[in-house]
Amino acid sequence: MQRRPLYCRIALPSRGSNSAPGTHRPQAVRTREGVYCNSCLHLITSLEFKAVINGQHQHTMFNPAGLLFELCCFWQAPGMVNSGKPSTDFSWFSGYGWQASLCGNCRRHLGWRFSGPQPTFFALITNRLLFGTAP
Ligand SMILES: [Zn+2]
Repeated sequence: MQRRPLYCRIALPSRGSNSAPGTHRPQAVRTREGVYCNSCLHLITSLEFKAVINGQHQHTMFNPAGLLFELCCFWQAPGMVNSGKPSTDFSWFSGYGWQASLCGNCRRHLGWRFSGPQPTFFALITNRLLFGTAP
């Protein structure tokens, strides 16, 4: 019985019903940073869609032509448009097909959409993006 008051003390601060309703919401919105095309500042996706693929959010990959790409992965990228049909040739992620993915506004190539038996994700080229709150 002596343990119970301790539990009550821990639970008390989380009641929070005295604070005005909605005071927590603006903070939650402020943490939703955007990811933008660095050519035209079009909103591509948000950090809330960050994906961890094969244990990592960021990947460094070479394409067959020897070009190096620093990539970061997202589950969704609503600001992109996809180009061409999915191909599995030289896919960086085993079991996934890829399509080039372009900025929905200026059509710059910003990365690839990977689709396969597991959830679809986007691998975006880090140095073609801007990270932050709305410019
Ligand atoms: Zn753009």
